[in-house]
Amino acid sequence: LSERLGGVFDRLTKQGALSEDDVRTALREVRVALLEADVSLPVARQFIKAVEKKATGAAVTKSVTPGQQVVKIVHDELISVLAGEGEPGSLRIDSPPAPILMVGLQGGGKTTTTAKLAKRLKERDGKKVLMASLDVNRPAAMEQLAILGQQIGVDTLPIVKGEDPVAIAKRAKTQAGLGGYDVYMLDTAGRLSIDEELMSQVEAVRDVTTPRETLLVVDGLTGQDAVHTAENFDTRIGISGVVLTRMDGDGRGGAALSMRAVTGKPIKFVGLGEKMDALETFEPDRVAGRILGMGDIVALVEKAQQTLEAEQAERMMKRFSKGQFNMNDLKMQLEQMIKMGGMGAMMQMMPGAGKMAKQMDEAGMDDSILRQQIALINSMTKRERANPQILQASRKKRIAKGAGMEVSDLNKLLKMQRQMSDMMKKMGKMGKGGMLKQAMK
Ligand code: GDP
Ligand code: MG
Repeated sequence: LSERLGGVFDRLTKQGALSEDDVRTALREVRVALLEADVSLPVARQFIKAVEKKATGAAVTKSVTPGQQVVKIVHDELISVLAGEGEPGSLRIDSPPAPILMVGLQGGGKTTTTAKLAKRLKERDGKKVLMASLDVNRPAAMEQLAILGQQIGVDTLPIVKGEDPVAIAKRAKTQAGLGGYDVYMLDTAGRLSIDEELMSQVEAVRDVTTPRETLLVVDGLTGQDAVHTAENFDTRIGISGVVLTRMDGDGRGGAALSMRAVTGKPIKFVGLGEKMDALETFEPDRVAGRILGMGDIVALVEKAQQTLEAEQAERMMKRFSKGQFNMNDLKMQLEQMIKMGGMGAMMQMMPGAGKMAKQMDEAGMDDSILRQQIALINSMTKRERANPQILQASRKKRIAKGAGMEVSDLNKLLKMQRQMSDMMKKMGKMGKGGMLKQAMK
């Protein structure tokens, strides 16, 4: 993937501006990336369409780094779709006892998530929580919740043999009211696939409890199927949010995008393991990075940055060889030195600059001095920066004062700028194929 996107990127950076065609080409690759991450096909299509509109409409005007722009637009859009509105990880659990209904297919992680969430509510929010298993088909499932409850120190509704899910739900509601619980959680049974019996059972439970939150628990590794599940549960039961489990696996988590697109409901939490504390608030940017393969994206953006800097350097070199080296240029060099923790890239490339580099090192040019020099340049006017030769006594005084420094400091800076300017000019005079050109290679 990295290679593929990288290739597109190379093609893009070589051109000045980004045409509609370029956007389309780049997005074709993004589409493949989405599908590889298990985003469902219609959702991937729809997403690409939306991004295409944005990319061609707006950001293309600036011709600096088109490839970076496309990637950034894709990344930003992905985050915004994943995030939606509202605080991630928040639950409406005011007005106790607040019922939370947990729904989903069998094996998705409902029981585990019920307990994880109960633990979180207890420990982080100081809530008194009651859990009840409505999984009458599998006695082991009720046992499972009871054991987890003991483990995390959260009460579970005592098991009564022969009760149906609706009766258990009613009992949980009564018990939660009498026992002064803030929240009661209903862990429903799941089937391997959606069927009528499952749905009507959950519906009946919903009707007797009117849940404040109905959370759909979905295995984050399931791709296309997850969409049908979500669609079905949302239309029949009406969900308020999604929990994606198994996000600790090596899947790329494309289900997250599908879920958001299909249900429009927020993804509230992600499950990151079997342990009871492996539940985290959903973070859109992390998942977005994962869906796209963030390592790749970071590499691409960095590459764009490098290209940009190289172009800038080349343009500067052209000006310098004509003897134009003003305070803006010096400022850029100083900033670069801070960033690189050493001599500026340009200076390193210039054979003649070695001596000055040594001088600067000897003068103890550490970060704080560099920053002071930048402060001096910052307190110059635009005109002064472009033409430092106009600086006479009164201007100098003003500048030094503005930067909180002495005129003598400013004089040192001016000397440095003159020396560099002279040196550049000399090197430029060596003509075509001269040292400057050589150094650029
Ligand atoms: P249910 O049938 O929907 O109630 O699913 P369970 O809660 O019983 O979970 C099924 C299996 O998935 C169990 O072995 C869980 O430990 C495991 N599981 C649940 N959530 C996660 C998760 O976020 N990551 C991992 N790796 N395993 C999980
Ligand atoms: Mg279960």
